[in-house]
Amino acid sequence: MPFFIKRKKTRQIMVGNVLIGGAAPIAVQSMTNTFTHDISATVLQIKGLEKAGCEIVRVAVPDKEAAEAISKIKKKISVPLIADIHFDYRLAIASVKAGADGLRLNPGNIGSRKKIKAVVDCAKEHDISIRIGVNSGSLEKDLLKKYNGASAEAMVESAVRHVELLQSLDFSRIKISIKASDVNRTLNAYRLLSSKTDLPLHVGVTEAGGLYSGIVKSSLGIGMLLAEGIGDTIRVSLTRDPVEEVRVGYEILKALEIRRRGPDIISCPTCGRCKIDLFDIVKQVEEALISNLLPIKIAIMGCIVNGPGEAKEADIGIAGGDGTGILFKKGKVIDTFPQDKLVEVLLKEVDKL
Ligand code: SF4
Repeated sequence: MPFFIKRKKTRQIMVGNVLIGGAAPIAVQSMTNTFTHDISATVLQIKGLEKAGCEIVRVAVPDKEAAEAISKIKKKISVPLIADIHFDYRLAIASVKAGADGLRLNPGNIGSRKKIKAVVDCAKEHDISIRIGVNSGSLEKDLLKKYNGASAEAMVESAVRHVELLQSLDFSRIKISIKASDVNRTLNAYRLLSSKTDLPLHVGVTEAGGLYSGIVKSSLGIGMLLAEGIGDTIRVSLTRDPVEEVRVGYEILKALEIRRRGPDIISCPTCGRCKIDLFDIVKQVEEALISNLLPIKIAIMGCIVNGPGEAKEADIGIAGGDGTGILFKKGKVIDTFPQDKLVEVLLKEVDKL
């Protein structure tokens, strides 16, 4: 953790085999967008997420078929699986019985205390955690009236209410999320919530949008909270392949120097001096190294203006020439290669490390 971040100490809980909160690393999670009952498609997507470093995965459980699919999915994956439940407490119970490692629910839409108690008893029996997931789009009517809309205060009151409900049932293996679809409200809600509880927090901006707005809103919302020491696990929300969410999650952690996973790739934006197809080279290298865990620095630069300088400082680097590139390793020139060979030789050198 860099010196300027003083992480808030939260209680630690286990989600499957992953520690959340306390001094545990800030975990990166995501959610599938396949039909959960389509077991092969869901497993395939989770495998892709695991490869990208996803540490907890959530699946939607809208019906009985989805709940039943969990036992088969669980056999083929290694990350903890969370069942996302709305409205029907029986689906929560069926998911836990099918082997889910955790539940994400909003006790407010599960119904009576009796139904919630049935879910909690089942969670206790199977030793799993529950995330209370408050969302600005589905707040209780009385709170919307009291606060004149889904304000940060209304969201916090909803979260506190749900926490107290679970605690009154003697359940404490809880984490909380309190997401709004805009950055400012999300920040205010988490700040206020963090001042009121020491339960671990799952942070994210909900429904953040497509690639551009989603990355910007998530980087600001999640990044500012993490910089203030708030947050124990993160989920970037993008209207895209969830693998992209995981990649962005790690980039946020990497940019704040909180956590490092895999190579740090430095590349220039290119300009009129660049005479190689740098965009394609960078894309190929990023994709080839998506599951590589080496904490190395790779510089891929378009020309000899800044290229050799950056490339020399990196563990491995390329400085582009005219249809060629000079390959550097630990500050030394290895050789000059034609551009269509650059990715191959760079990846070979990464392997040697
Ligand atoms: S490294 Fe070269 S090609 Fe890249 S932006 Fe700088 S001057 Fe342009």
